Amino acid sequence: MDISQIKSQFPIFRQPTPKGNDFVYLDNAATSQKPQCVIDAITRYYSEEYSTVGRGAYWPASINTARVNEVRSKVKTFLNAASEREIVFTSGTTDGINKVARNFLAPRLTAGDHIIISEAEHHANLIPWQQLCLEKGAELKVIPVLESGVLDESWLASHLNDKVKLLAVSACSNVLGIKNDLNSMISLAHEKGIPVLVDAAQTLCHDRVDVMSLNCDFLLFSAHKMFGPTGVGVLYGKAQCLEQMKPFNYGGGIVKEVTMQGSSFQDLPAKHEAGTANISGILGMGAALDFILSLDEKETAAHLSDLTSYALDRLESIEGLKIMGGKDHKAPLISFTLDGIHPHDISTFLSEEGICVRAGHHCAQPLMHRFQIPASIRASFAVYNDRKDIDRLYEALLKTQSFFL
Ligand code: PMP
Repeated sequence: MDISQIKSQFPIFRQPTPKGNDFVYLDNAATSQKPQCVIDAITRYYSEEYSTVGRGAYWPASINTARVNEVRSKVKTFLNAASEREIVFTSGTTDGINKVARNFLAPRLTAGDHIIISEAEHHANLIPWQQLCLEKGAELKVIPVLESGVLDESWLASHLNDKVKLLAVSACSNVLGIKNDLNSMISLAHEKGIPVLVDAAQTLCHDRVDVMSLNCDFLLFSAHKMFGPTGVGVLYGKAQCLEQMKPFNYGGGIVKEVTMQGSSFQDLPAKHEAGTANISGILGMGAALDFILSLDEKETAAHLSDLTSYALDRLESIEGLKIMGGKDHKAPLISFTLDGIHPHDISTFLSEEGICVRAGHHCAQPLMHRFQIPASIRASFAVYNDRKDIDRLYEALLKTQSFFL
């Protein structure tokens, strides 16, 4: 795989850092950089063919309506959904989870019911359920994370019962980088007739998901973590689930007939997409999918797996560096601490070296409590990273240690 050719498609890497050194971007789990094709799709929309969609009979509106429909179709194929009706555009993963919480679960949740999540969830897949439980007098049950970072599946098996109204888990932790065994968890839940929501925010940038074979009921992702723009994402839901839900928002674009007394609504997916869409975002997301599909899936996986193993080896050789969680089922994402130096000091020091990593609790405070640390450093890789980036990180960490200790 020609990584330098891939990297050359990302104009940001041609910019020098403020200190004039090469830019090493290792915060891909937060958001990934954008290839030229994504930037071009957005620029073309605003500079050459700007219009609304779904409402005008004039040519740019028809072109853009067709393009937005095409993106929906691309997402459908990408996820292997049964139909375009199951693909709803949202502003991102957080938005999608909140919509399922408010419109799918809230109407069927009563006092004493349970919602199961895991201890490793991002706040986006925790707070909506926690608040719903508080409102309804329901209980949030939490799958413990083992020392290895793996979820305790035996706990799950023994807690799935009639009271449970939803299992909501991430496909991969944004802190530990450990991929969950979704097939097994979904089968266990479905045996008891419990619907399952999958937070795939950390997955689709490096792994494909087949929603039909996975058989999840909902799956969410954000385009900005997979080379697309911010503020746009997808809520996949099985048609029968989306049909049962009232429109997420009320307003224009979703109606058949409106009188002052009442309104009738369109079929899926329009029913759930009131208001003017984030058209540039959707077009950018389409270009991002094209970019991902232009890469050989197996080669990408092999490259990322090589980078992750290489990084684990190099990082582990640093005295006082502790990696959170085990090495099995690992996504290209490593969280660690360095004895005696606060993660924020490390990331500030690394920034001076032109290296971007994330420091903090990564919007997963309960997981930090679980591992009894306030914060960690997270280095996460994308297809444009290479071994030189890891070497730069390694050298800079040694330099950080000699500066602070
Ligand atoms: N879930 C996970 C696992 C994440 O990593 C993130 C983003 N850090 C989110 C949800 C929320 O994504 P967004 O901010 O794009 O809505």
